[in-house]
Amino acid sequence: MKVHKIAVLAGDGIGKEVMPEGIRAVDAAAKRFNIGIEWTSFEWPSCDYYLKHGKMMPDDWKEQLDGYDALFFGAVGWPDTVPDHVSLWGSLLKFRRQFDQYINLRPVRLLPGVPCPLANKKPGDIDMMIVRENTEGEYSSVGGRMFEGTDREFVLQEAIFTRTGVDRVLKFAFELAQKRPKKHLTSATKSNGISISMPYWDERVDAMGVGYPEVRHDKYHIDILAARFVLSPERFDVVVASNLFGDILSDLGPACAGTIGIAPSANLNPERSFPSLFEPVHGSAPDIYGQNIANPIAMIWCGAMMLDFLGYTEAHDAMVAAVESCLVDGPRTPDMGGTASTTEVGVAIAATI
Ligand code: ATP
Ligand code: MG
Repeated sequence: MKVHKIAVLAGDGIGKEVMPEGIRAVDAAAKRFNIGIEWTSFEWPSCDYYLKHGKMMPDDWKEQLDGYDALFFGAVGWPDTVPDHVSLWGSLLKFRRQFDQYINLRPVRLLPGVPCPLANKKPGDIDMMIVRENTEGEYSSVGGRMFEGTDREFVLQEAIFTRTGVDRVLKFAFELAQKRPKKHLTSATKSNGISISMPYWDERVDAMGVGYPEVRHDKYHIDILAARFVLSPERFDVVVASNLFGDILSDLGPACAGTIGIAPSANLNPERSFPSLFEPVHGSAPDIYGQNIANPIAMIWCGAMMLDFLGYTEAHDAMVAAVESCLVDGPRTPDMGGTASTTEVGVAIAATI
């Protein structure tokens, strides 16, 4: 049996509370499907580590993590002691860039038993995958400020779209769409307003589409796309977007499908040259930390995505099915109207798996 080495990066706040439940659920699936998993815990990146060492991670973090098959990540951030941009840039954003995790993948599904903020939507109406470009585009950090403090002051920030960068995210999205029953891909654009980079993006979508004749693809400007997410999410299957548009959609999507406590995400390096990272959409939630009431479902769903990425689709499906059945008649944390603890929900889901 191959043993997969997983680095456990629980981080801060409720990251530390939901992580044990993520591990418990993955262990249950590993036992059932005979998968070898070896966990190794790290005390960094975290704000506690920052307070002791003046940085979120040791300098040799890359060497220490490089050999792992995946990074299982809770959340970082403790804004009372470390500003959010410091904790974020000192950890997650380094992983994304140095480990070339150029895909940010977010499943968005309305699950049974979850109250939906949109009117008249039932489970099945919302079932999409958002694929966000994670390394270039609008978040280039290229630019500057001149004539500061004078009337001539100006700022400039460039967006960078490389052929390699655009094509690789589109390829991932088309392949994903090809594997799904609806075989439908929607691309987010704004070529009527952003007149150079977005027409290029559109061109590359059409060029990539030629290689996937079974996949029906269409394009929406980001403004109307955002409106459609809310009004008619059932028309979407796989949605691909640049870094900025994907950032917005990947928060809007989970918000349309209910509580933030259940939404998972993955930062992937599909070539597997570097470890990929699996993290809940939610943050460290200092307001509820320490009470054992955080919803562990996002973390558990991340564990399912991790097993899927490692090649265990059946284990993934079993974990998601267990989450679904617990949402229908299992214990619930307070964010979902229940009174159960983080641990009780985690134990129930692991038992179902
Ligand atoms: P980020 O770290 O992405 O900046 P944030 O710090 O703004 O996010 P979160 O930490 O995600 O926000 O918390 C936002 C709100 O959602 C908080 O009120 C928090 O209590 C609640 N929340 C977040 N995650 C969970 C969870 N797993 N279970 C229950 N409530 C949660
Ligand atoms: Mg935060």
